Amino acid sequence: MKSIREIYKIGKGPSSSHTMGPERAALQFMTEYPDAHRYQVILYGSLNKTGIGHGTDSVLRDTLGVDKTEIIFSSDEWEGMHPNTLDLIAFDAEGAKLGRQRVESIGGGDIRFPGQKKAEGEEVYIEHSFAEISDFCKWRYINTLSEYVELNEGPEIWDFLMNVWQVMKNAIDEGLKAEGVLPGGLNVQRKAKFLYEQDPKVNEPGLLEFQRIAAYAYAVAEQNAGNGTIVTAPTCGACGIVPAVLKYAQETKGFSDQEICRALATAGIIGNLTKTNASISGAECGCQAEVGTACSMAAAALAELYKQNLDQVEYAAEVAMEHHLGLTCDPICGLVQIPCIERNAVAAMRAMNACNLSYFLTGSRNISYDMVCRAMKETGVNLNHRFRETSEGGLAKIYNRKRSN
Ligand code: SF4
Repeated sequence: MKSIREIYKIGKGPSSSHTMGPERAALQFMTEYPDAHRYQVILYGSLNKTGIGHGTDSVLRDTLGVDKTEIIFSSDEWEGMHPNTLDLIAFDAEGAKLGRQRVESIGGGDIRFPGQKKAEGEEVYIEHSFAEISDFCKWRYINTLSEYVELNEGPEIWDFLMNVWQVMKNAIDEGLKAEGVLPGGLNVQRKAKFLYEQDPKVNEPGLLEFQRIAAYAYAVAEQNAGNGTIVTAPTCGACGIVPAVLKYAQETKGFSDQEICRALATAGIIGNLTKTNASISGAECGCQAEVGTACSMAAAALAELYKQNLDQVEYAAEVAMEHHLGLTCDPICGLVQIPCIERNAVAAMRAMNACNLSYFLTGSRNISYDMVCRAMKETGVNLNHRFRETSEGGLAKIYNRKRSN
């Protein structure tokens, strides 16, 4: 597996697969053809269906040059292709083709060239499953996933994760201050500030907990939808879940920033395992791959903070994923707003519940994290394409039909 740095990417929303990945592909392509007179980009599959709502076209124009870039949304048959495929073509001043590159945006901002099995980047971890990691840790008397991360990535990982945590906290702070309507034309009002400022029934601790965690998740997810700076965890669409639970845990239990970084390391391993063995792409496997993975990451992070053992950490992550299996991706108008923002808040609460269950029930569990990952992948690839970030099914279809009536 690659470094957990690949899970946490700092950048502007709203979509890791539809903006960060294509931006990365365009930057690489530009270095190969820096003197091109003009560029053409052809978007296929989910990039064609939801590229406008996710802002794919504008990020590509901004990267390659507004005046010299033509974007073509292609409805050509894309069976057999990765659902987020784009072709980049460079031309000289006479209109002759200089070169063409096909790229797949595989989720979390990563890209891959067709035929390549994995995204580019150095392999850092020898182990590829939770079972292998668990065996290794028990053999080496390693008690936590964060120690395992340090062993493989070196102590410099802590500076990286501290920066990630600062950006996550900034996104919460900025999101709690922001007001108004999110861009995109759906007229979605920002709600984080409103939620945060409600008078909580202080004698109802469950309500206070929900209000705070939901407000933090909304804050980050709304920053993402408003093109603000966030950290993928593991994607832009699901970026509010991990920061929300960690912020709440820090605020209520007084965990230090260093302890939060250790929790982020644990969460990073869960995200990495899911990315390696299943998917973190909504276009590939539906929202279970994005929000489900983020919920698993958050549950595992909490379990690490609360000093649960390795089996409990695994169970927390497993429970969190198991109850997202089959979750479809059906963003209305192709925007990362409905159902995405609210879903971050609900998943953050689910992560808390998964961590609580793991505390009590790990000894009686039947399902491992590796098993639930396989189930997620199998479920995802068998989901009809209408439910994989095309905005052609579910809420997106019903909402669009209602609007046209
Ligand atoms: S529904 Fe889920 S997977 Fe789809 S865009 Fe929204 S957050 Fe991403």
